[in-house]
Amino acid sequence: MVGHRHCRDRAWMPDGCLVHAGKVEAQTHLARAETGAVKEYAVDVVVVGAGPAGIMAALAAASHGRKAALVERQPRPGVKLCATGGGRGNLTNTLPEEDFLRRFGRKARFVAPALRSFGPRRLKSFLNESGVPTTVEDGWRVYPVSGRASDVRDALVRRLGRSGVELFVGAEVDGLIGSSGRVLGVRSTAGTFSCRAVVLAAGGMTRSDLGGNESGYALAKQAGHSIVRPLPALSPIRASDPWVGRLAGVVLPNAGLRAGRGGAGAVSSGSVLFTHSGISGPAALDISGFVAESLAAGPIELLLNCDQDSGREEWLHRFREWRKAHGARRIVNLLDMALPASFAEVVAETAGVNPARVAAELTADETGRLIESLTGLHITAVGVGSMDEAMVTRGGVELSEVDPKRLASRKAPGLFFAGEILDVDGPTGGFNLQWAFSSGWLAGYNSNFQV
Ligand SMILES: Cc1cc2nc3c(=O)[nH]c(=O)nc-3n(C[C@H](O)[C@H](O)[C@H](O)COP(=O)(O)OP(=O)(O)OC[C@H]3O[C@@H](n4cnc5c(N)ncnc54)[C@H](O)[C@@H]3O)c2cc1C
Repeated sequence: MVGHRHCRDRAWMPDGCLVHAGKVEAQTHLARAETGAVKEYAVDVVVVGAGPAGIMAALAAASHGRKAALVERQPRPGVKLCATGGGRGNLTNTLPEEDFLRRFGRKARFVAPALRSFGPRRLKSFLNESGVPTTVEDGWRVYPVSGRASDVRDALVRRLGRSGVELFVGAEVDGLIGSSGRVLGVRSTAGTFSCRAVVLAAGGMTRSDLGGNESGYALAKQAGHSIVRPLPALSPIRASDPWVGRLAGVVLPNAGLRAGRGGAGAVSSGSVLFTHSGISGPAALDISGFVAESLAAGPIELLLNCDQDSGREEWLHRFREWRKAHGARRIVNLLDMALPASFAEVVAETAGVNPARVAAELTADETGRLIESLTGLHITAVGVGSMDEAMVTRGGVELSEVDPKRLASRKAPGLFFAGEILDVDGPTGGFNLQWAFSSGWLAGYNSNFQV
């Protein structure tokens, strides 16, 4: 095989792995232009996309002695992986399996076989064996001890080298090769690959600066698959309420959000951060996929509970205590004790209560309206961030066309899927990376039986 080199000058260099780098790929183009020749490679399994899903798929395929090629359009593998968790990589979490799956909603049944074949525990020991010990933060989120997601990428790429996987970088796959509906290879800017199985792990559309693009969907469509409309998820939410901008920078650490229309609904919890144009923070990000789907029918109302530990009864009790102990104090100054001052003012304003009102003068009706705002402040969502602001894509390859036990296409024998390219997205907290690792492993493992 020509055009490869042992790339010992890069941080992500996999020991002993053949790396077909961008420069070499440029020479390939030149050679093709001069001679009209297209490079041809013959392997057992081709994996498209060197994100966490694709890397795991290639490792699983190679672990059975198969010859695997991993083809990546960017000049480096795992670029998005390195940016996860603010560069720290929230890799997975410690929730029990049932709770973990519940966070995928109606997609949980599809996710389950992959999670059971390569779950959080197995991922942690796999990373540990690879030289990346992990640690638990906030009681449930798992990060590399080093605090660097790039260490995970580097360790996985070293493992690719030891497994004999051939990694091609700067090489975009632009077509599937098939015969009688069966997938038998791919065309790429580095040449054509013939193989017995192809794993599509090309990711979703978010963050084009980190590799997000639509080409994976085009390849899936070529094999006869339908694509559920891709929408931004885990993205900030824009709101039209005039008071929102006044709260920019305010954080409610223990908030809850509810959204619903016509029977369908969503809830989320965690911290909410007000921005100049709306809300962000984990609770807002987690509900943003539902908001994006619902916006097709117009603005959608969200209900914000500013403190999940305080229900109506707790607030009522607090108001009674305030009336007794601090009857002469302004109501906003009392709310200030539990909440940021600017938020307390918005609560009074939206409840139609004069903020200068003192606790002893509050009527039962005013108290009721204040409690309504504290436990269910109406926020009018009018938009979500763009694909370049979102973290994951909601939508992708239609799940009914893929066998969840093998992650094999039901449309085209020889084709497998892994990671975000599928219509699966989870909330913040390591769910999406775990899905990428788990599905990559399952698809790569099963691609072997095609050989
Ligand atoms: C800023 C940010 C922070 C995040 N933080 C977290 C976090 O802390 N925890 C968490 O669980 N999730 C996080 N996520 C989500 C997580 O990164 C993704 O869900 C995950 O990377 C998906 O893995 P993947 O392998 O399916 O896709 P990707 O990581 O997107 O990899 C797909 C790869 O395929 C390549 N590719 C695409 N098309 C082609 C083609 N035609 N030919 C060749 N190669 C191609 C792309 O260049 C890319 O490298 C974050 C996302 C973002 C954007």
